[in-house]
Amino acid sequence: MVSKNSKFVTILGLIFALVVTAYAADSRTKLKPGWNLFSPQQDIEMGRESAKQAEMQLPLLNDRQAASYIDTLGKQLASHAPGEKYPYQCKIVNDTAINAFALPGGFIYVNRGAIEAADSENQIAGVMAHEIGHVVLRHGTNQVSKAYLAQAPLAILGGVLGSNSIGSVLAQLGVGFGLNSLFLKYSRDAESQADLMGTQILHDSGYDPKGMVEFFERIQAESKGRAVQFFSDHPNPENRISNVQHEIERLGGAPANARKDSTEFHTTKNLLAALPAPAKSARGANRPADTRNGKPAPPSGRLTTFNGNGLQFRYPDNWRQYGQGSAMTIAPDGGIVNDSLAYGMVIAEFEPDYHGQGSISLEEATDQLLNNLQRSNANMRVTRSHERTRVDGQAALIAEASNQSPAGGRETVPPRL
Ligand code: ZN
Repeated sequence: MVSKNSKFVTILGLIFALVVTAYAADSRTKLKPGWNLFSPQQDIEMGRESAKQAEMQLPLLNDRQAASYIDTLGKQLASHAPGEKYPYQCKIVNDTAINAFALPGGFIYVNRGAIEAADSENQIAGVMAHEIGHVVLRHGTNQVSKAYLAQAPLAILGGVLGSNSIGSVLAQLGVGFGLNSLFLKYSRDAESQADLMGTQILHDSGYDPKGMVEFFERIQAESKGRAVQFFSDHPNPENRISNVQHEIERLGGAPANARKDSTEFHTTKNLLAALPAPAKSARGANRPADTRNGKPAPPSGRLTTFNGNGLQFRYPDNWRQYGQGSAMTIAPDGGIVNDSLAYGMVIAEFEPDYHGQGSISLEEATDQLLNNLQRSNANMRVTRSHERTRVDGQAALIAEASNQSPAGGRETVPPRL
């Protein structure tokens, strides 16, 4: 009796100890997406549009086997990520700079240089898990939301945002969908969150999460000799390494039978080594001309016609169209400086406040719009207003305003109302 009873107690004690260990072993940092104006579905729509633009500027690596390896690895890792399920796709950019980036909604790009710099599969998996972390935590659209809140708080309170508003938000911010997009400018906080989330994903996918630390150490050594964008975009390597090491401890170390490497990874590395070197570093070479190196090309004499949303007008054929729906930015390459429109145009609809009546005068609606623009542009001065004209047979008003240019100096823009 006594022995039976004490055995029972021991088993109970053991179960209790196991439960406690399992609980104590996983005290991972809790991470959640920040404030966001958009729905996860809109992350996907924006990411898709942005990916289309990015791929016009980036040389993708055309090797089916290597591409399929990276895409499969990315999808495997993403299947262990918490939260919203995004349609992940991972592609290789034929660029030797050690870098990777993610667009909202799961569009991930890994540079050939990052794969070449990794020694084992869990290292490149660490880079990709970091990028998946940005997607899960919705850093891209959180960034756009914060910028929009700073610029147009009243528009948000006024409920201007509708279902068709992604393009309009970006156009109002003068931001494009391409590689110079706000989506890719994360805060230092966002970067360390992505490191921690990446470590958790790596661990939960059965990899030895030390791969993340090893890769950081690897590129810290490399960075002495060549461009390592992963670090210039992501500052403070020493802190990153110690933060990740901490998180590994909080996860209770590597999972049992942790994976470190695979033959597929080394086959892919050998494939890349056998391919010819890319002509030039893609970033820089294929990005739109930057205005810091001079102004954008002058507007072309050839015009192209815009037709849509009940509007028709012509614009220089060397300008490109960003955004969609009720607001658009049309600008030359390099027209956007420091996330603001310096050269180009914004076409947007404005819905005046009718004060509960069916209609208001054109004059009053114009004043509302000018006031609205002034609230988010403190230095803007109206230089002409209430000048009568006709647009397509309808009564219209012309106003002109002047503001500090993001490219320096003062600019005068005559919006047609
Ligand atoms: Zn990052």
